[in-house]
Amino acid sequence: MSKICIFLSLTLALFVNSEQNTPIVITTWNFVNSTITAWNILKQGGYSLDAIERGTSICEEQQCDGTVGYGGSPDEDGETTLDALIMDGRTMNVGAVAALRRVKHAASVARHVLEHTKHSILVGELATQFAVRMGFHEETLTTPDSKRMWLKWYYRDHCQPNFWMGVTPDPSKFCGPYSKIDNFRHKYYNWLPIKVDRFNHDTIGMVAIDRKGDVAAGTSTNGAKFKIPGRVGDSPIPGSGAYADNTVGGATATGDGDIMLRFLPSFLAVEEMRRGASPTEAARTAINRIATHYPDFMGAVIALSIDGAYGAACHGLGDDPFPFVVQDITMHKYKIEKVNCSWPLH
Ligand code: ASP
Repeated sequence: MSKICIFLSLTLALFVNSEQNTPIVITTWNFVNSTITAWNILKQGGYSLDAIERGTSICEEQQCDGTVGYGGSPDEDGETTLDALIMDGRTMNVGAVAALRRVKHAASVARHVLEHTKHSILVGELATQFAVRMGFHEETLTTPDSKRMWLKWYYRDHCQPNFWMGVTPDPSKFCGPYSKIDNFRHKYYNWLPIKVDRFNHDTIGMVAIDRKGDVAAGTSTNGAKFKIPGRVGDSPIPGSGAYADNTVGGATATGDGDIMLRFLPSFLAVEEMRRGASPTEAARTAINRIATHYPDFMGAVIALSIDGAYGAACHGLGDDPFPFVVQDITMHKYKIEKVNCSWPLH
């Protein structure tokens, strides 16, 4: 009997091993070049943290969809600022920057926060000072395109839409500067919804597992178009924008960050996988939690478990499915997967 058991468990081990699809990387949206860049590092036996840093950096350099890197999503003053995060699932260490000004390589600055400080997040002008001290170059993140976008929003569209409420002059009609008003629920309450769609709002989020089984995750974005200066989204917040834990796997999120960060969806997805959920089930739970409170929110979560299984869930993209990119050791080429965002998710 015991011989049979040993034989069966050896066969099972061989089977599991032959199914092993790590190293693997998954990326939000169809950010293919980032996936290829990360994959090239992973397939040569490189470190998952390097794959995440390089993968997200390429998107910053190539200004993916205009929503990652310089020259996109100008804030109310016309300035582009960047948010990025990198998390090491081996050490549970995090480096992040938020509202980073005048430095293009937010993902690499985040890596420097991780490796050269005992902190986790640096923000704004002082994050820029840190980056310069670490050898990064300071330059404007404004481009002719972002300038044009801002001029149109300010002069032609009278600052519509915007993120203000309960202020005067009426933010649904006029530009600021605004000052607060009392009893704002009755007066000048800005109900005009900001339409969050994939061209005014995106993040590259990546999760990777390398040959040694180390998990890393990261994000980079220029945030929300016409945000109030100083706004920090979900992307640089650990557990919200991304999360990684070598014992379980990792997850990352994209979408309406002001809402999503209230629910730590990446952390929730990882914790669901720890409790035995599949990556798809875990991502659905994270999305469902948000949608229960905010039925109109737009967002997606992708999740990867330590055994190389992956999945995703999304909400609020209308009839469009949510795409994400995968490449693992069993594939000749990356694969673009798609999930439907129909609600409710089961
Ligand atoms: N989550 C990002 C933010 O709100 C944008 C996005 O992923 O669509 O800053």
